[in-house]
Amino acid sequence: MQNRIHLSIAHLTGREQEFIQEAFDTNWVTTAGHNLDAFEKDLADFLGNDCHTLALDSGTSAVHLGLVLLDVQEGDEVLCQSFTYAASANPILYQRATPVFIDSEKDTWNMSPEHLERAIKDRIKKGKKPKVVILVHLYGMPAQIDDLLAVANRYEIPVLEDAAEALGSQYKGIRCGTFGELAVLSFNGNKIITTSGGGALVSRTKDRIQNARFLSTQARDALPFYQHSHVGYNYRMSNVLAGIGRAQMTALPQRVEQRRQINRFYREQLAGIEGVGFHTEPSPDFFSNYWLTVLLIDPAKMKISPENIRVALEKANIESRLVWNPMHRQPLFKDCPFYGNGVADSLFKNGLCLPSGSSLTEEELHRVTEAFFCVCCIH
Ligand SMILES: *Cc1c(COP(=O)(O)O)cnc(C)c1O
Repeated sequence: MQNRIHLSIAHLTGREQEFIQEAFDTNWVTTAGHNLDAFEKDLADFLGNDCHTLALDSGTSAVHLGLVLLDVQEGDEVLCQSFTYAASANPILYQRATPVFIDSEKDTWNMSPEHLERAIKDRIKKGKKPKVVILVHLYGMPAQIDDLLAVANRYEIPVLEDAAEALGSQYKGIRCGTFGELAVLSFNGNKIITTSGGGALVSRTKDRIQNARFLSTQARDALPFYQHSHVGYNYRMSNVLAGIGRAQMTALPQRVEQRRQINRFYREQLAGIEGVGFHTEPSPDFFSNYWLTVLLIDPAKMKISPENIRVALEKANIESRLVWNPMHRQPLFKDCPFYGNGVADSLFKNGLCLPSGSSLTEEELHRVTEAFFCVCCIH
């Protein structure tokens, strides 16, 4: 059996140990220290747009803390893109709030501005104005930012931007992760860069990040003894792991270029196959990090379903994956309201993610496309 080709795995630079060693040499091995300060600065410098950053122990913690900062409470409604990973929506339940799911639009596969506005109007008519909009840049593709922000601003609802998959992506030349009142990044093992596990909150409002830092370290009042007036969390990133992040940041622009190159490779190789489409930047306003390359398979033309392709690739020891199953289809969220007309459902039916890790070699990429041709009987 040939070696396994993974969907997306950690790609180390070789410098991680250097920064980890610095934490040990200086005895800063918990949730404060130079690696954290430097990693947060590296992130803020990379993102630009005058943003501030806070490193946390996961992207999920960042979503949760974001909702806390935006004052989401029991019984509130939160509008959330349905076509996403469960980590975008689970923290709504941590707050005992109700998710209201919004369908995607066909170009970016992200939140539809039309359905967002329809949902807001309807929720207000039913008696409750939604508290927050959670939009996602899925697989690295920027959402329709201008239209979505226009709707959210019209109704004065703050936006929490889930940029967990989109570090390095841009909309109109501005980095994803700097558009929302708050934004979330993730550094788990399969994202474009990793800290083994970790996340960050981003905001252009400095107070938001200061407040997030306070809440993420148990919300201790500024007194010589232990006094607490707010619910606190233990969500801070370790200074040891921030060392991994510093090393990873040195390679981020390269990692974006590598993932985009992998995307170009698949396009060239699979171009012209009847029944194969791609998740594609709709116009030059959109710049995707192409965290994952995603195909749309037309089963009628291809005579094979995405799931059967996945199983057949697996036999060649190649990991591919179906796209996220929309949240409004999850047993966990079956009673939540949904506004849409089948776009996310059809993406789920036809989508397939190909191996896209930045450490894939040209030989491995050819193995994937050759296995794909073989599975689909294309010669
Ligand atoms: C990975 C991911 C998260 C959460 O990140 P973790 O660091 O794994 O907690 C949130 N949202 C989306 C869309 C993700 O892909």
